[in-house]
Amino acid sequence: MGARPPYPDPVANLRIHGDDPARGVRERPQSLAALLPEGVHGVAGLYVHVPFCFHKCHYCDFYSFVDREGRTGDYLARLAREVAWSAARVAGPIRTVFVGGGTPTLLSAEELARLCALIRELPLAHDLEWTVEANPETIDAEKARVLVDAGVNRVSIGAQSFDPRHLKTLERWHDPANVERAVRLLRDAGIANLNLDLIFGIPGQTLAEWRADLERALALAPEHLSCYGLTYEPNTAMTRRLERGEFEPCDDAVEAAMFEATGELLGAAGFARYEVSNFAREGRECRHNLVYWRNEPWWALGPSASGFVAGHRFKVVPRLGDWLSGDDSGAPPVVDHEAPDERRHTSEAIMLGLRLMEGIDAALERHAVELEPGRAAIIARAIADGLLERTAEGRLRFTGRGVMLANEVLGKLI
Ligand code: SF4
Repeated sequence: MGARPPYPDPVANLRIHGDDPARGVRERPQSLAALLPEGVHGVAGLYVHVPFCFHKCHYCDFYSFVDREGRTGDYLARLAREVAWSAARVAGPIRTVFVGGGTPTLLSAEELARLCALIRELPLAHDLEWTVEANPETIDAEKARVLVDAGVNRVSIGAQSFDPRHLKTLERWHDPANVERAVRLLRDAGIANLNLDLIFGIPGQTLAEWRADLERALALAPEHLSCYGLTYEPNTAMTRRLERGEFEPCDDAVEAAMFEATGELLGAAGFARYEVSNFAREGRECRHNLVYWRNEPWWALGPSASGFVAGHRFKVVPRLGDWLSGDDSGAPPVVDHEAPDERRHTSEAIMLGLRLMEGIDAALERHAVELEPGRAAIIARAIADGLLERTAEGRLRFTGRGVMLANEVLGKLI
């Protein structure tokens, strides 16, 4: 649903045991039951993937598709099995839930109620943050009420742009006016915590137009904004059009100016950048995404969802048919699994932690350097260049200038 995954998916690029689309290899899924210890403790978050969409947007590489065969009932039936299996194995309390996709709000009100009831069978914390992604076209008063009644207290709306021309470029099929409508419906239903997803760097978009998008978003008074630069993921329709030379991508300097303007404009409006691409009013940081960025354990349900528990990383099989035919026990079928690996875990921890403006603590930095002594020189160079800095508490973090070059520095560090 979003512009981009809310974090660099730590298992997205695993090819150790996984499929290799380039070679047409399809690995036989394994049952998660065989890969994890009996009881899984300390699970902080839960991600549930709903793969159905009204239409496939051209830039999107999430696992999502148009459900021409009416398989939402099968989806919920299989999810019920996996929830039952998970409830017997996972110890909470789960502090955050994120229902993403796909378009969860494409489900009917009854189906959404069923989905939420299933999630409630898991060991959830009392002060749960529960987010559902919503497409502006698919939310109505009844669905908003169902979500609130179930305990959902945060909704993330895929706005992307308020300019019809740019929405058309992205092949997003919604009317910008419907974002306002969706916000009103959700506020009326009692949702006090709203995020809007926005994309910049769209071909043909000017800096002034991006600023206008930000102003339109601010006028809706969200608590949180995710602002991602458009990326051209392999195997998307948009990337194929780019490769055929059908349009010019946004100029790098314009995109850098947009990134900088985002921080300035949102900062002036009372939002703090707390992650490279994410901004929140005080106390409204997305607690679920913080679970990812702080490398805490999270559970995953639904086709293509990836999880991280007890040091194990796994990806649930990313095809609905394979997922539906998972074994009768209800254990999720997975195609990528990585057993605990200290080096990889540390690399993930610094990559994800440095994306946060709070940075990483001295103990993690020391450990990362012990594992890879070459990192000491890279960090020293980045500090000398004004890209990284050390706080009074000894944490290492990006400077305001460094955050613009975060991917470059992180690429060297990991
Ligand atoms: S709404 Fe578009 S961007 Fe979002 S998951 Fe569906 S196809 Fe992808």
